[in-house]
Amino acid sequence: ARKSGQPWNVYDAEQEQVFVRHHLLFGKLREALIKQHLRVHYQPQIDLRTGRVLGAEALTRWMDPDSGMIPPSVFIPVAEESGLIRQLTNWLVDECMRDCAAWRRQGLDLHVSINLSALNLLDPALMGVLQAGLAKTGLHAQYVNLEITESCFMASPERAMEVIGRMHDCGFKLSIDDFGTGYSSLSYMKNLPIDELKIDQSFVRNLLNNQGDQAIVSSTIELAHNLQLLVVAEGIENTATADWLCSRGCDIGQGYSFARPEPADALVAMAIRRGTG
Ligand code: C2E
Ligand code: CA
Ligand code: CA
Ligand code: CA
Repeated sequence: ARKSGQPWNVYDAEQEQVFVRHHLLFGKLREALIKQHLRVHYQPQIDLRTGRVLGAEALTRWMDPDSGMIPPSVFIPVAEESGLIRQLTNWLVDECMRDCAAWRRQGLDLHVSINLSALNLLDPALMGVLQAGLAKTGLHAQYVNLEITESCFMASPERAMEVIGRMHDCGFKLSIDDFGTGYSSLSYMKNLPIDELKIDQSFVRNLLNNQGDQAIVSSTIELAHNLQLLVVAEGIENTATADWLCSRGCDIGQGYSFARPEPADALVAMAIRRGTG
């Protein structure tokens, strides 16, 4: 038997726990996908100058009948490691496109932003899924924003560039999510057909009390605008932060100050109240 208290032993036990937990979650997640226990919530994206709703980011929610709400920070990594991210994203794309098509039929000028994993970009079937989604729902690609992170350039830069080029050719909009937190090469920004840059919430949360964050955020806004990109700030939790960002020229805001991610009904109500486009 192993003696406890030895570092390698502790490490081993932790690894085993992680493994068992992931394995259990994998089974549950596969079941959740089949039984449709996943839901899409939408967080509004607001035009900081006009206050209108421009669209929404889709964020997946998993309500497990036994253990309650399981956060994406827990199940997305499990989905990525197990390969289930493929099924999850296929499901997500269909849901989001159907919802967005319905909003637009109601006369609401809204787009939808969909998070893609780095692994999704390596999946040769992804383009087919995206195009089938458009065909099924009648939605135009220009109303779909695909959010990718800098990490997708790390795994396989050539492949990522190629897929992004094809997405752009199909008419999809491309956003770089969590900008500034990942692989820090700016070369992809000038070489890729990107439309939008999302400033990570870690720079936004304490913005008003942190001069370093202020310097990074203003410079990022300027850089993005010089490259003709739109800028989204996420994690805006109060109006003072929204006002500061607007005064620095940030285009779009997202955060609890405006709304939390909620079911589509809540987004539609807000869009009607504030106006769209
Ligand atoms: P993300 O794409 O950076 O999404 C923003 C996260 O910030 C969301 O957390 C959102 O609920 C949260 N958030 C929004 N406004 C505020 C705010 O004002 N304050 C604070 N403290 N948080 C705010 P969530 O929904 O827990 O998702 C976490 C991450 O999980 C996402 O980060 C994304 O990377 C991933 N994720 C979520 N849904 C999906 C999905 O359907 N597919 C993929 N591939 N990833 C997803
Ligand atoms: Ca995102
Ligand atoms: Ca983000
Ligand atoms: Ca994130």
